[in-house]
Amino acid sequence: MMHIVIVGGGLVGAAAAVAAARQGYQVTLLERGAAPDHQPVSQEWDLRISSVHQKNVEWLEQLGVWTQVDSAKYFSYAGLSVTTRDRQTVEFAAADVAAPRLGVMVENDALVRACWQVLREFENVTLRAETEIKTYELESQHLLLNNDETLLFDLLIGADGANSAVARAAEIGMRGWDYDMRCLLAIAEVEQPLAAKTWEVFRAEGPYALLPLNDHLACLIDYRAEAVWSDASTEQVEQALHETFAPVLGAFTLQKHASFPLRRQRALRYFDSRGVVLIGDAAHSIHPLAGQGVNLGFVDVQTLMSALAASELRTALKTYERKQTLVNQQMMRMMDAIHFGFRSEHLLPRLAVGLGLQAVAKIKPIKQQIIKAAMGWS
Ligand SMILES: Cc1cc2nc3c(=O)[nH]c(=O)nc-3n(C[C@H](O)[C@H](O)[C@H](O)COP(=O)(O)OP(=O)(O)OC[C@H]3O[C@@H](n4cnc5c(N)ncnc54)[C@H](O)[C@@H]3O)c2cc1C
Repeated sequence: MMHIVIVGGGLVGAAAAVAAARQGYQVTLLERGAAPDHQPVSQEWDLRISSVHQKNVEWLEQLGVWTQVDSAKYFSYAGLSVTTRDRQTVEFAAADVAAPRLGVMVENDALVRACWQVLREFENVTLRAETEIKTYELESQHLLLNNDETLLFDLLIGADGANSAVARAAEIGMRGWDYDMRCLLAIAEVEQPLAAKTWEVFRAEGPYALLPLNDHLACLIDYRAEAVWSDASTEQVEQALHETFAPVLGAFTLQKHASFPLRRQRALRYFDSRGVVLIGDAAHSIHPLAGQGVNLGFVDVQTLMSALAASELRTALKTYERKQTLVNQQMMRMMDAIHFGFRSEHLLPRLAVGLGLQAVAKIKPIKQQIIKAAMGWS
C-alpha cells in the first residue's frame, strides 16, 4: 500500500490526510505544533477565519469532516457585494442561481480540529503532533524525525505553509513579492442585526470588508499600507475602525484584532521526481482579497487525489502540476488585476473595473456564471 507522509497538519494538510485515508493509502501526518483537537475549545471566535465556497463545503461533507465542525463556529452567507472606488455597487446573491447559500465563514481552528477528530478514527493513519523532520533523505525516500524515528515514504506531501521546509529540502525555488500592505482583522460585536451577506468596499488607501459570523458578530477587515497598521496602537486601530465601519454598521465593540503582512508567492515547481509534491500555501499564497487561499488548497487536494487514483505516481504528479499551476496562476493574476486596478490613481483602470462590474450586473447569465464561480463551480 502506498505510504504518504504529509508535513503540516493545518487546514490543507489535515484535509489532505482525510482524503488520502479515505482513498485507502497508509498516511502519516506530521505537525510541528500541538495536536489541534487536544487544545481547549474557546467560546470566542479566533481571528483566523476562512470563507469556504459551497463546492468545497460539499467536498468536506463527503469526507465526513463537515458534520464534526462546531456549529457555533461557522455561518452561511447568501449574498456578496462589491463597491468600487467610484461608488458603484454590484450585488451577487445565492438566490440568483436558486441556491440556499454561496458558502460559509468558518473558524480555521474549528475546521482543523474537525479534520484531526476524523483522522483519529482511521486505522491507516498515524498522527504525529509536535514533530518535525530532522533529516530529509530524498534519494532513498526516507526521513529522520526529531524523535529519532525513521520513516520511509512513497509520496511526501509538503503542506507546511508559505515558508515550506519541504520545498527547501527538495530545492524547489519560490518567486514572490510583498504588496507593502497589511490586512487588519478584528472581531466585532454589533448591536444591529447583521444580514447573512459579505461585502467589500474599495477606497484609495485599500479595501475594507465585512464577514458575518452570526447575527450580531462580524469579522471586520481593513487593508492599509504596511506602515499604517504596523505602528498603530490599539486606540488608533479602534478609532480607525469606528470611522470606517460605524457609518454602515452602527454601534459595535471590538473583542480583538491583529494584522498580517500581505505577500504573494508561488513555487516554481509543484513536484519533484523523488516523490515530493507541494499543496496549499506551500505551493502558492495569494492576496486574501477574495478569500480564495484555503479554497485553492482544497482544490489542490481534490486534483492530486483524483490524479493518484487514475494513474501511477509520476504521471499523477505531472497531471496535478499541469492542472493546478493553471488554476492557481489564473487566480493570482486575477487578484493582482483587482488589487492594482481598484487601487489605481488613474481613472482608466478604475473605470474599466467599474464598467466591467456594471456590465456584469446587467447581464444575467454572466452574473450567474460569476456567482457559480464564487461558489466553486467555475
Ligand atoms: C489575513 C489573511 C486572511 C485570509 N483569509 C482567507 C479567507 O477568507 N479564505 C481563504 O480561503 N483563505 C484565507 N487566507 C489564506 C489562508 O489562511 C491560507 O491559504 C491557509 O491557511 C493555507 O493553509 P495551509 O494548510 O496550506 O497552510 P498553513 O495554514 O500555513 O498551515 C501549515 C501547517 O504546517 C505546520 N508546519 C509548518 N512548518 C512545518 C514543519 N517544518 N514541520 C511540521 N509542520 C509544519 C504549521 O504549524 C501549520 O499547522 C487568509 C490569509 C491571510 C494572511
